[in-house]
Amino acid sequence: MQVSGFSVPFPSEWGRGESTNAYILKGKMTALVDAGLDSPNNREYIKGQLKKLSSWKVDLLLITHGHIDHFGLASYIQGETGAEIYIHEDDSPALKNYRKALTWLDEVYALAIEGGFSDIDLREARIRQSVALDIMGVPKDFKTFRKLELDMGDQKLSTIHLPGHTPGSVGYVLGEIVFSGDVALDGSTVVGDLRGELESIQKLKTFREVYTGHRRTPINAMDLEALEAHIAQRLEEVLRVTREGKTLREIVSAIYPASMMLEENFIRKIIPIRQVVSYLRYLEEEGYIVKNGAIWRSFKEHL
Ligand SMILES: [Zn+2]
Ligand SMILES: [Zn+2]
Repeated sequence: MQVSGFSVPFPSEWGRGESTNAYILKGKMTALVDAGLDSPNNREYIKGQLKKLSSWKVDLLLITHGHIDHFGLASYIQGETGAEIYIHEDDSPALKNYRKALTWLDEVYALAIEGGFSDIDLREARIRQSVALDIMGVPKDFKTFRKLELDMGDQKLSTIHLPGHTPGSVGYVLGEIVFSGDVALDGSTVVGDLRGELESIQKLKTFREVYTGHRRTPINAMDLEALEAHIAQRLEEVLRVTREGKTLREIVSAIYPASMMLEENFIRKIIPIRQVVSYLRYLEEEGYIVKNGAIWRSFKEHL
């Protein structure tokens, strides 16, 4: 099995300098793990990459999770190559209707408004997001699974469930290596459910190489330990900041001061808010923090 990777740039309205990692696994069958965001430029770009690496032949399109920076181009690639698309059942609503899959956003938005963020600020950001969503297509046809085993010819490919970043995040496993999407990234990662996230990071430590959805790749057990330490440090910061009782806006500006200055795109604005909400929920469930109205207050300074 031959493994090669490349990264698909984000269109400019999504964020400068960012990209999604995609991987081609080439044996008797050819699989593409993840496809980046859809745009006219990216269609040309991925076509060029796939022509070079697999003669534009894709049998399987394996999606790590239901975020459009991973499946945006899936519909286009399927139309051109006839590839079969696979995604975990729990993330499949995103492929049916991306807007419906964005309910987490409404939740975070409501907490943000309650927590002192300005509606105008976020509304502007939301409109831009809608425009970006309008240009993408959703695939007509795809297969869902809870556990998958595929015969790639010379090697077996299986899946490992890695909830946390999204409920249906998976890793695609080839022997000692795994293609894991956004569950763990180099340095930090965007968390949905932190408890699931921490368990999934544990599972990833058993692999020799972890091929991630963004940034430097592959990473290994040592990088994963650094990521855990980073998360623990963030939790400590949240505990310290909320000792006196603080609103969500105050907490976000203490933890991610740079994000408060940004006029930029929606993602960069909402992700720090969501991240803090995930930390707060976890600490609340663990009994460290209590929410009273719009105020979050911690009882302990340390974990
Ligand atoms: Zn993601
Ligand atoms: Zn991503």
